[in-house]
Amino acid sequence: MNASACRIGIDLGGTKIEGIALDASGAEVVRQRIDTEAHGGPQHILARIAGLYAALVYAIDDAPHTLGIGTPGAVSPKTGLMKNSNTVCLNGLPLTSLLESALHHPVRLENDANCFALAEALQGAGVGHGLVFGVILGTGCGGGIVIDGKLRAGPQALAGEWGHMVIDPSGDACFCGAHGCVETFISGGGLEHRFRTLLDRRGAATNDPRRQWSASLVHQGFQAGDADCIEIMGEYFARFGQAVANLIAVLDPDIIVLGGGLSHIDRLYTRGIAEVEKRMFSDELTTPIVRNQLGDSAGVVGAALIGI
Ligand SMILES: [Zn+2]
Repeated sequence: MNASACRIGIDLGGTKIEGIALDASGAEVVRQRIDTEAHGGPQHILARIAGLYAALVYAIDDAPHTLGIGTPGAVSPKTGLMKNSNTVCLNGLPLTSLLESALHHPVRLENDANCFALAEALQGAGVGHGLVFGVILGTGCGGGIVIDGKLRAGPQALAGEWGHMVIDPSGDACFCGAHGCVETFISGGGLEHRFRTLLDRRGAATNDPRRQWSASLVHQGFQAGDADCIEIMGEYFARFGQAVANLIAVLDPDIIVLGGGLSHIDRLYTRGIAEVEKRMFSDELTTPIVRNQLGDSAGVVGAALIGI
Protein backbone atom coordinates (compact mmCIF):
# COMPACT_ATOMS: atom_id res chain seq x y z
CA MET A 1 0.00 0.00 0.00
CA ASN A 2 1.43 3.36 -1.05
CA ALA A 3 0.89 5.67 1.94
CA SER A 4 1.11 8.82 -0.15
CA ALA A 5 -1.42 7.79 -2.79
CA CYS A 6 -5.11 8.44 -3.01
CA ARG A 7 -7.31 5.37 -2.58
CA ILE A 8 -10.36 4.23 -4.47
CA GLY A 9 -12.64 1.55 -3.08
CA ILE A 10 -15.65 -0.06 -4.74
CA ASP A 11 -18.21 -2.26 -3.04
CA LEU A 12 -19.91 -4.46 -5.63
CA GLY A 13 -23.16 -5.72 -4.16
CA GLY A 14 -26.03 -7.70 -5.63
CA THR A 15 -28.28 -4.63 -5.84
CA LYS A 16 -25.97 -1.61 -5.40
CA ILE A 17 -22.44 -0.65 -6.36
CA GLU A 18 -20.87 1.97 -4.10
CA GLY A 19 -17.58 3.74 -4.72
CA ILE A 20 -15.43 6.00 -2.58
CA ALA A 21 -12.31 8.08 -3.25
CA LEU A 22 -10.01 9.01 -0.37
CA ASP A 23 -7.27 11.61 -0.65
CA ALA A 24 -3.68 10.92 0.47
CA SER A 25 -4.59 11.88 4.06
CA GLY A 26 -7.45 9.34 4.10
CA ALA A 27 -10.20 11.97 3.92
CA GLU A 28 -13.24 11.21 1.78
CA VAL A 29 -13.31 13.20 -1.46
CA VAL A 30 -16.41 11.69 -2.99
CA ARG A 31 -18.79 8.78 -2.57
CA GLN A 32 -21.30 7.53 -5.12
CA ARG A 33 -23.83 4.75 -5.28
CA ILE A 34 -25.48 3.25 -8.35
CA ASP A 35 -27.69 0.23 -9.06
CA THR A 36 -25.89 -2.99 -10.01
CA GLU A 37 -28.54 -4.01 -12.56
CA ALA A 38 -27.27 -7.58 -12.19
CA HIS A 39 -30.03 -8.84 -14.49
CA GLY A 40 -28.05 -7.27 -17.35
CA GLY A 41 -25.31 -9.90 -16.97
CA PRO A 42 -21.55 -9.74 -16.38
CA GLN A 43 -20.63 -7.38 -19.25
CA HIS A 44 -23.28 -4.91 -18.14
CA ILE A 45 -22.08 -5.04 -14.52
CA LEU A 46 -18.49 -4.44 -15.67
CA ALA A 47 -19.66 -1.42 -17.69
CA ARG A 48 -21.51 -0.07 -14.63
CA ILE A 49 -18.36 -0.42 -12.52
CA ALA A 50 -16.23 1.24 -15.21
CA GLY A 51 -18.57 4.24 -15.32
CA LEU A 52 -18.48 4.64 -11.54
CA TYR A 53 -14.70 4.23 -11.46
CA ALA A 54 -14.25 6.95 -14.12
CA ALA A 55 -16.29 9.36 -11.99
CA LEU A 56 -14.17 8.59 -8.91
CA VAL A 57 -10.91 9.07 -10.83
CA TYR A 58 -12.24 12.38 -12.16
CA ALA A 59 -13.04 13.49 -8.59
CA ILE A 60 -9.40 13.04 -7.54
CA ASP A 61 -8.22 14.82 -10.68
CA ASP A 62 -6.58 11.70 -12.17
CA ALA A 63 -4.17 11.45 -9.22
CA PRO A 64 -2.21 8.20 -8.72
CA HIS A 65 -4.29 5.86 -6.55
CA THR A 66 -4.73 2.34 -5.29
CA LEU A 67 -7.85 0.35 -6.15
CA GLY A 68 -9.65 -2.27 -4.10
CA ILE A 69 -12.99 -3.93 -4.81
CA GLY A 70 -15.13 -5.82 -2.33
CA THR A 71 -17.81 -8.29 -3.40
CA PRO A 72 -19.61 -11.33 -2.03
CA GLY A 73 -17.80 -14.60 -2.69
CA ALA A 74 -14.11 -14.97 -3.40
CA VAL A 75 -11.55 -15.52 -6.11
CA SER A 76 -10.41 -19.14 -5.96
CA PRO A 77 -6.67 -19.16 -5.19
CA LYS A 78 -6.46 -22.38 -7.26
CA THR A 79 -8.22 -21.33 -10.46
CA GLY A 80 -8.35 -17.52 -10.28
CA LEU A 81 -12.08 -17.77 -10.98
CA MET A 82 -14.86 -16.19 -8.96
CA LYS A 83 -16.79 -18.53 -6.66
CA ASN A 84 -19.54 -18.36 -4.04
CA SER A 85 -20.99 -15.01 -5.16
CA ASN A 86 -24.72 -14.57 -4.67
CA THR A 87 -24.59 -12.53 -7.89
CA VAL A 88 -24.35 -15.96 -9.45
CA CYS A 89 -23.71 -14.72 -13.02
CA LEU A 90 -20.21 -13.69 -11.86
CA ASN A 91 -19.27 -17.17 -10.61
CA GLY A 92 -16.80 -19.01 -12.81
CA LEU A 93 -15.46 -15.80 -14.38
CA PRO A 94 -11.89 -14.50 -14.08
CA LEU A 95 -13.33 -11.39 -12.43
CA THR A 96 -10.03 -9.81 -11.35
CA SER A 97 -8.59 -9.83 -14.88
CA LEU A 98 -11.90 -8.74 -16.41
CA LEU A 99 -11.95 -5.78 -14.02
CA GLU A 100 -8.32 -4.92 -14.71
CA SER A 101 -9.03 -4.91 -18.47
CA ALA A 102 -12.16 -2.80 -18.03
CA LEU A 103 -10.59 -0.30 -15.60
CA HIS A 104 -7.00 -0.25 -16.90
CA HIS A 105 -5.68 -0.44 -13.34
CA PRO A 106 -4.47 -3.27 -11.07
CA VAL A 107 -7.29 -4.53 -8.86
CA ARG A 108 -7.32 -6.36 -5.55
CA LEU A 109 -10.60 -8.17 -5.20
CA GLU A 110 -11.66 -9.16 -1.70
CA ASN A 111 -14.74 -10.64 -0.06
CA ASP A 112 -17.10 -7.83 0.97
CA ALA A 113 -17.53 -9.08 4.53
CA ASN A 114 -13.74 -9.19 4.85
CA CYS A 115 -13.63 -5.54 3.73
CA PHE A 116 -16.32 -4.68 6.30
CA ALA A 117 -14.45 -6.52 9.08
CA LEU A 118 -11.14 -4.86 8.22
CA ALA A 119 -12.64 -1.36 8.16
CA GLU A 120 -14.39 -1.87 11.51
CA ALA A 121 -11.23 -3.42 13.01
CA LEU A 122 -8.98 -0.55 11.92
CA GLN A 123 -11.33 2.43 12.13
CA GLY A 124 -14.59 1.42 13.78
CA ALA A 125 -16.06 -0.63 16.62
CA GLY A 126 -13.23 -3.18 16.61
CA VAL A 127 -10.38 -0.76 17.32
CA GLY A 128 -8.23 -2.10 20.17
CA HIS A 129 -9.55 -5.68 19.89
CA GLY A 130 -7.23 -8.54 18.89
CA LEU A 131 -9.61 -10.80 16.98
CA VAL A 132 -12.54 -9.05 15.32
CA PHE A 133 -15.31 -11.07 13.68
CA GLY A 134 -17.34 -8.90 11.31
CA VAL A 135 -20.80 -10.08 10.33
CA ILE A 136 -22.88 -8.83 7.43
CA LEU A 137 -26.60 -9.37 7.72
CA GLY A 138 -27.75 -8.04 4.36
CA THR A 139 -29.23 -9.60 1.24
CA GLY A 140 -26.96 -12.52 2.15
CA CYS A 141 -24.99 -13.36 5.28
CA GLY A 142 -21.21 -12.94 5.29
CA GLY A 143 -18.41 -12.85 7.79
CA GLY A 144 -14.79 -11.78 8.03
CA ILE A 145 -11.97 -12.38 10.47
CA VAL A 146 -9.31 -9.79 11.33
CA ILE A 147 -6.50 -10.83 13.66
CA ASP A 148 -4.26 -8.09 15.09
CA GLY A 149 -5.20 -5.74 12.26
CA LYS A 150 -4.70 -8.30 9.47
CA LEU A 151 -7.32 -10.09 7.43
CA ARG A 152 -7.41 -13.87 7.69
CA ALA A 153 -8.39 -15.08 4.22
CA GLY A 154 -7.29 -18.72 4.49
CA PRO A 155 -5.73 -21.02 1.87
CA GLN A 156 -9.10 -21.50 0.16
CA ALA A 157 -10.29 -17.91 0.70
CA LEU A 158 -13.05 -19.29 2.92
CA ALA A 159 -12.23 -17.90 6.37
CA GLY A 160 -15.25 -16.30 7.98
CA GLU A 161 -17.84 -17.78 5.55
CA TRP A 162 -20.16 -18.67 8.41
CA GLY A 163 -23.25 -17.85 6.33
CA HIS A 164 -23.00 -21.27 4.69
CA MET A 165 -22.59 -23.34 7.81
CA VAL A 166 -25.57 -25.70 7.85
CA ILE A 167 -27.57 -25.35 11.06
CA ASP A 168 -30.63 -27.35 9.93
CA PRO A 169 -30.19 -29.95 7.13
CA SER A 170 -33.98 -30.09 6.73
CA GLY A 171 -34.10 -26.34 6.15
CA ASP A 172 -34.66 -24.32 2.97
CA ALA A 173 -32.50 -24.74 -0.14
CA CYS A 174 -29.64 -22.25 -0.43
CA PHE A 175 -28.07 -20.96 -3.66
CA CYS A 176 -24.84 -22.72 -2.57
CA GLY A 177 -26.44 -26.14 -3.03
CA ALA A 178 -26.89 -26.99 0.66
CA HIS A 179 -30.04 -26.81 2.79
CA GLY A 180 -30.54 -24.89 6.01
CA CYS A 181 -27.44 -22.68 5.88
CA VAL A 182 -27.24 -19.81 8.37
CA GLU A 183 -27.95 -17.48 5.42
CA THR A 184 -31.32 -19.13 4.73
CA PHE A 185 -32.45 -18.08 8.21
CA ILE A 186 -30.82 -14.80 9.17
CA SER A 187 -30.06 -12.90 5.94
CA GLY A 188 -32.62 -10.42 4.64
CA GLY A 189 -33.47 -12.73 1.73
CA GLY A 190 -33.73 -15.69 4.12
CA LEU A 191 -36.05 -13.83 6.49
CA GLU A 192 -38.33 -12.78 3.62
CA HIS A 193 -38.51 -16.34 2.30
CA ARG A 194 -39.18 -17.81 5.76
CA PHE A 195 -41.96 -15.26 6.27
CA ARG A 196 -43.65 -16.15 2.97
CA THR A 197 -43.42 -19.84 3.87
CA LEU A 198 -45.06 -19.11 7.22
CA LEU A 199 -47.88 -17.22 5.47
CA ASP A 200 -48.42 -20.28 3.24
CA ARG A 201 -48.61 -22.52 6.31
CA ARG A 202 -51.10 -20.13 7.88
CA GLY A 203 -53.20 -20.25 4.70
CA ALA A 204 -52.87 -16.50 4.12
CA ALA A 205 -54.72 -15.23 1.04
CA THR A 206 -52.73 -15.16 -2.22
CA ASN A 207 -53.34 -11.41 -2.39
CA ASP A 208 -52.20 -10.81 1.21
CA PRO A 209 -49.93 -7.75 0.79
CA ARG A 210 -47.58 -9.17 3.41
CA ARG A 211 -46.38 -11.70 0.83
CA GLN A 212 -44.43 -8.84 -0.79
CA TRP A 213 -42.91 -7.54 2.45
CA SER A 214 -39.19 -6.86 2.60
CA ALA A 215 -37.16 -7.88 5.65
CA SER A 216 -37.47 -4.33 6.94
CA LEU A 217 -41.28 -4.41 6.63
CA VAL A 218 -41.38 -7.78 8.43
CA HIS A 219 -39.40 -6.14 11.23
CA GLN A 220 -41.80 -3.21 11.27
CA GLY A 221 -44.70 -5.67 11.47
CA PHE A 222 -42.98 -7.31 14.45
CA GLN A 223 -42.72 -3.93 16.18
CA ALA A 224 -46.37 -3.21 15.40
CA GLY A 225 -47.51 -6.52 16.92
CA ASP A 226 -48.37 -8.58 13.80
CA ALA A 227 -48.60 -12.15 15.15
CA ASP A 228 -46.97 -13.79 12.10
CA CYS A 229 -44.09 -11.29 12.18
CA ILE A 230 -43.65 -11.95 15.90
CA GLU A 231 -43.41 -15.67 15.22
CA ILE A 232 -40.91 -15.38 12.39
CA MET A 233 -38.75 -12.85 14.26
CA GLY A 234 -38.75 -15.25 17.23
CA GLU A 235 -37.28 -17.88 14.90
CA TYR A 236 -34.88 -15.27 13.53
CA PHE A 237 -33.44 -14.40 16.96
CA ALA A 238 -33.16 -18.10 17.91
CA ARG A 239 -31.29 -18.96 14.69
CA PHE A 240 -29.07 -15.90 15.13
CA GLY A 241 -28.30 -17.18 18.64
CA GLN A 242 -27.39 -20.65 17.35
CA ALA A 243 -25.20 -19.33 14.52
CA VAL A 244 -23.30 -16.89 16.74
CA ALA A 245 -22.86 -19.42 19.57
CA ASN A 246 -21.34 -21.84 17.01
CA LEU A 247 -18.89 -19.26 15.78
CA ILE A 248 -17.89 -18.25 19.30
CA ALA A 249 -17.18 -21.91 20.08
CA VAL A 250 -14.69 -22.06 17.21
CA LEU A 251 -13.06 -18.63 17.30
CA ASP A 252 -13.88 -17.07 20.68
CA PRO A 253 -13.47 -13.59 19.14
CA ASP A 254 -12.63 -10.53 21.24
CA ILE A 255 -15.57 -8.72 19.64
CA ILE A 256 -18.30 -9.39 17.06
CA VAL A 257 -19.36 -6.39 14.97
CA LEU A 258 -22.65 -6.52 13.08
CA GLY A 259 -23.23 -4.77 9.77
CA GLY A 260 -25.66 -4.82 6.85
CA GLY A 261 -29.28 -3.68 6.74
CA LEU A 262 -30.54 -6.11 9.40
CA SER A 263 -27.91 -4.96 11.91
CA HIS A 264 -30.29 -2.02 12.56
CA ILE A 265 -32.72 -4.37 14.34
CA ASP A 266 -32.42 -3.07 17.92
CA ARG A 267 -33.49 -6.30 19.58
CA LEU A 268 -30.53 -8.18 18.13
CA TYR A 269 -28.55 -6.47 20.89
CA THR A 270 -30.90 -7.59 23.67
CA ARG A 271 -33.00 -10.61 22.71
CA GLY A 272 -30.53 -11.76 20.02
CA ILE A 273 -27.68 -11.72 22.54
CA ALA A 274 -29.85 -13.55 25.11
CA GLU A 275 -30.46 -16.29 22.48
CA VAL A 276 -26.68 -16.58 21.96
CA GLU A 277 -26.16 -16.87 25.72
CA LYS A 278 -28.66 -19.75 25.98
CA ARG A 279 -26.68 -21.78 23.46
CA MET A 280 -23.13 -21.02 24.64
CA PHE A 281 -20.75 -23.83 25.56
CA SER A 282 -19.88 -21.78 28.60
CA ASP A 283 -21.51 -20.54 31.78
CA GLU A 284 -21.42 -16.95 30.60
CA LEU A 285 -21.21 -14.82 27.48
CA THR A 286 -18.63 -12.05 27.72
CA THR A 287 -18.08 -11.49 23.97
CA PRO A 288 -19.22 -7.97 23.04
CA ILE A 289 -21.73 -8.20 20.16
CA VAL A 290 -22.07 -4.65 18.88
CA ARG A 291 -23.27 -2.44 16.07
CA ASN A 292 -20.79 -1.23 13.50
CA GLN A 293 -19.56 2.36 13.79
CA LEU A 294 -18.84 3.13 10.13
CA GLY A 295 -22.42 2.53 9.01
CA ASP A 296 -23.15 1.65 5.43
CA SER A 297 -19.74 2.92 4.34
CA ALA A 298 -17.72 0.24 6.18
CA GLY A 299 -17.57 -2.12 3.19
CA VAL A 300 -16.45 0.50 0.73
CA VAL A 301 -13.90 1.98 3.18
CA GLY A 302 -12.49 -1.53 3.69
CA ALA A 303 -12.25 -1.97 -0.09
CA ALA A 304 -10.28 1.29 -0.27
CA LEU A 305 -7.96 0.10 2.53
CA ILE A 306 -7.00 -3.16 0.78
CA GLY A 307 -6.31 -1.64 -2.64
CA ILE A 308 -3.19 -2.07 -4.76
ZN1 LIG B 1 -25.57 -21.82 1.64
